Amino acid sequence: MENQRTLKTPYYICEEELLEKNLKLLDYIQKESGTRIILALKGFAMYSTFEMVSKYLKGCTASGLYEALLAKEEFCRYNEKAEVHTYSPAYKEEDLKEIAKISDHIVFNSLSQLLKYATFVKDINPKVHLSLRINPEVSASPKDIYNPCGLYSRLGTTLQNFDEKVLDCVDGLNFHALCEQDVDALEKVLEKFEINFSKYFKNLKYINFGGGHHITKKGYDVQKLIKVIRDFKQKYDVEVYLEPGEAVGWECGYLVASVLDTFNNGMDIAILDTSAEAHMPDTLAMPYRAEVRDASEAGVKPYTYRLGGNTCLAGDIMGDYSFDKPLEVGDKIIFEDQIHYTFVKSTTFNGIKLPSLVIKRKDGSIELIKEFGYEEYKRRLS
Ligand SMILES: *Cc1c(COP(=O)(O)O)cnc(C)c1O
Repeated sequence: MENQRTLKTPYYICEEELLEKNLKLLDYIQKESGTRIILALKGFAMYSTFEMVSKYLKGCTASGLYEALLAKEEFCRYNEKAEVHTYSPAYKEEDLKEIAKISDHIVFNSLSQLLKYATFVKDINPKVHLSLRINPEVSASPKDIYNPCGLYSRLGTTLQNFDEKVLDCVDGLNFHALCEQDVDALEKVLEKFEINFSKYFKNLKYINFGGGHHITKKGYDVQKLIKVIRDFKQKYDVEVYLEPGEAVGWECGYLVASVLDTFNNGMDIAILDTSAEAHMPDTLAMPYRAEVRDASEAGVKPYTYRLGGNTCLAGDIMGDYSFDKPLEVGDKIIFEDQIHYTFVKSTTFNGIKLPSLVIKRKDGSIELIKEFGYEEYKRRLS
């Protein structure tokens, strides 16, 4: 067992107790509304927690063969009945052959791939359910990079591209149109989706409402979500799936880094042994500002620093934060809420060490699950 003081930074630490709190809320929604909730692996894939996750969620949704394999190996081992749903913007035939063997649901992005491969995958796995992803063409997402329904979107089939003949080969329809949004945004999407597509629901077994539901964020209207799902199920007599990623890993852990150096160049600067670019990429892509424990916005507390990463990218900056005391070499900097969309994306850019993966178990013990070194960097180069 580890002691948190002896752990080498940087590391991501997931607190199982907080994760379970999220899972319990999601399970409450399942029980009250009758929906089935599956984990979107692209946002959270710390499989050393899946023994716990699989007690609450009904399975995983995978973005392709590798995530589907992870779901099969690391989620289904704890729950034989867990479902593997796979969706890719497009499939390679060689991948689809393997995906068909291990998936319970395969979701196609376009009419052309659905019609081309429906028989192919059914021949491999007669029990597999097929679905088409619809683009409901409601833009609710605040940023283009996270808006699956924006102009010229490649994600999902629009009404104009839809053809009734797909109804012969699908059991359900999917959409995924939200990003960190509340129930009102879901209602808007549903309204348009129902106007355009409800005439096709009659023989369908399920509708998948995708992810982006910010369910575990404080203030989310859980009761309204339950009502929306119940009403929908009653109206159309279908199963409803939700597939959140972010809401599962929301606020259940943090990234710990150390200060390596400080100096002044017009303002105080601190260089950390982590990287915004390589370890918390959403700070640059989203862009968003991570909370730092015991720190405030620039200028609020007496000592303001620009926190930057240890790479040669000029823009590798987490932001400006103020502290009660001057930062010193060796001080720990804790970035809050760094469990979703972080280590699933992290890289060894600039030859920087990948943060270790740590779990704080429910009994309080700290487990260093994985530490990465030079070999991790070298292995992917030639
Ligand atoms: C990313 C994604 C999800 C999960 O989205 P979150 O915002 O993490 O809840 C679910 N379904 C699909 C198709 C996705 O692309």
